[in-house]
Amino acid sequence: MTTLSVAVVGSGPAGLYTAEALVKQAAALDVPCRVSVDVIDRLPTPYGLVRYGVAPDHPSIKSIAEYLRGVLEHDDVRFLGGVRLGGEVTREDLLRCYDAVVYATGAMRDRRMGIDGEDLPGSYAATDFVNWYCGHPDSDAGSFTLDAESVAVVGVGNVAVDVARILVRDPDELRSTDVPQPVLETLMASKVREVHVIGRRGSAQAKFTTKELRELGELTGVDIVVGAGEAAPDAFDATGGSAALAESDRRVRGNLAVIGGWAARVPAGNRRRLVLRFWLRPVRVEGTGHVSGLTVERTRLDENGTLTGTGELETIPAQMVLRSVGYQSVPLPGVPFDERNCTVPNADGRVLGPGGAPLPREYVAGWLKRGPTGVIGTTAGRPVPGWRAGRCAGDRRGAGGPAGGPGGGAGELRRLAQGRAGRGGTRRLTGPRRAGEAGQPRGHRRALPRRILTAGPFWYRNHLGELKIVFAP
Ligand code: NAP
Repeated sequence: MTTLSVAVVGSGPAGLYTAEALVKQAAALDVPCRVSVDVIDRLPTPYGLVRYGVAPDHPSIKSIAEYLRGVLEHDDVRFLGGVRLGGEVTREDLLRCYDAVVYATGAMRDRRMGIDGEDLPGSYAATDFVNWYCGHPDSDAGSFTLDAESVAVVGVGNVAVDVARILVRDPDELRSTDVPQPVLETLMASKVREVHVIGRRGSAQAKFTTKELRELGELTGVDIVVGAGEAAPDAFDATGGSAALAESDRRVRGNLAVIGGWAARVPAGNRRRLVLRFWLRPVRVEGTGHVSGLTVERTRLDENGTLTGTGELETIPAQMVLRSVGYQSVPLPGVPFDERNCTVPNADGRVLGPGGAPLPREYVAGWLKRGPTGVIGTTAGRPVPGWRAGRCAGDRRGAGGPAGGPGGGAGELRRLAQGRAGRGGTRRLTGPRRAGEAGQPRGHRRALPRRILTAGPFWYRNHLGELKIVFAP
């Protein structure tokens, strides 16, 4: 039976749903074929965004890790952690060791607002804040102190909702989650009283999903307020298109119903306040030496539907600014990258070379393929549409098979990675690492040493004691 060896780079939802699809598809082919998948990740632990992007108070989304664990436990799927493309291995190594390579490294870099003061102390990317409260190994436990009384969150997508919720939620409610202990302690000592969530367009154009939005209004001890006159979808829209959007889009309709309900609420004088603002674009982060406010400009959609500034300025007092204006993918060394939309150029998931022709044996999936849109379920539905095991076998005949022989990629790759890591000795980790899975009771958490020996490989067990993880190199 033919065996195709595939390297999937990235062990987040896109990578693991891809691995699952590859294995399942091979089993369903008319001519039997086996696909052996190695999932490679720069981190020693799998699940990417599910582990390090989903807020700790969303255990049902985090529990997707349990499903993804099942993918890693498949006989034909292996996890190679601690292997960085562009570090321990190169694109050429992967193409030499495997019949096909799927890039699925997601979108972890923050986008910028491009305004003055953006780099002042106290102004952060929401992605950094998310990494912090999720205990990402790249983040230091002391990165945030939460001394600010007022926080401005720029952007009205689901990440903005997440960070705003974590800032105003009673931290006692996080005790039963897998939030890192130092983060919980910082949240317990937080001085934050007011969080402003600011959209540059209206409530109808906001990106958040209704379920996530509604949750904000259900938080105990939090008043929720909508900017005066800003709740109506067409308040600053000369085209009337915003109201029409509500009729045609169920999500928008749901959001408007929620926001309209909040606008009618009378604040109860709670300890914390969440203020939703619309039709305001950031102009400048204020402060000398540290953030003291965010100046915004009133916007409107003109008759042509173009977002324009009205010149009316307002400064929102804030000692912390979180820009939550979207994620971006980062280029992978040697892999084609479209700098304009920050994705890997592709046709139906097949990576396109500089001349625009598909590159044999190279594929892309998830946010790196289509940009950071949709929820995790969106990725589950479309792993690598362009992949065909049969086509890949043809590619192999046309472009040369892997040096290690069919199915022999992992051994060859490990040798390469180990050899290179051996020269480096140990690797300094920048933050606390935790062994643990989604939903794990806090008391069961084990701490991994900050300085760990990267020479390996060795098996890594999760708290359930079942997952076979090779930590290589
Ligand atoms: P997003 O949904 O694309 O929202 C980005 C927001 O930033 C938009 O409101 C956008 O406004 C605004 N923005 C962009 N550039 C701006 C600028 N220069 N100034 C002011 N505002 C600006 O991105 P996201 O919130 O980072 O979420 C990324 C993806 O992850 C989404 O698909 C989201 O649904 C998903 N996610 C899901 C969950 C969940 O399911 N619970 C949680 C977190 C994230 P415009 O619309 O005007 O551009």
